[in-house]
Amino acid sequence: MSVISAARIPSQTTKQPAEIDLTTLPEHIRQTVENALEAALRAPDNDVYFDHMTTAITASGIREPRNHELARCACTSCYCDVLYDADDPDAWTYTDGVREVPQCPGCADRHPGRDAE
Ligand SMILES: [Zn+2]
Ligand SMILES: [Zn+2]
Repeated sequence: MSVISAARIPSQTTKQPAEIDLTTLPEHIRQTVENALEAALRAPDNDVYFDHMTTAITASGIREPRNHELARCACTSCYCDVLYDADDPDAWTYTDGVREVPQCPGCADRHPGRDAE
């Protein structure tokens, strides 16, 4: 009897969402994700940066981002607080005159921001 023909475990990544609304996560998970994202911003080097990204990715349960980097929507039109793949081609970034504002794919579709002069 062979066990080799046993059904293969489906790829873990297929069922995971490409985007997660931070406000829908349980409070303690949201805190872990937010802390990791903030720590990543202050990371002194890439290794530490990606360590924190790993924590945020694992805790949130989001699908593995293309370049292992998450972005958090900072849209000023709706404050949606969506976490998404920083390299999602449907996402959008604009400048409000002071800083870069990342927008999740949903916001980029509904109300893309325009660069301020
Ligand atoms: Zn958004
Ligand atoms: Zn928005």
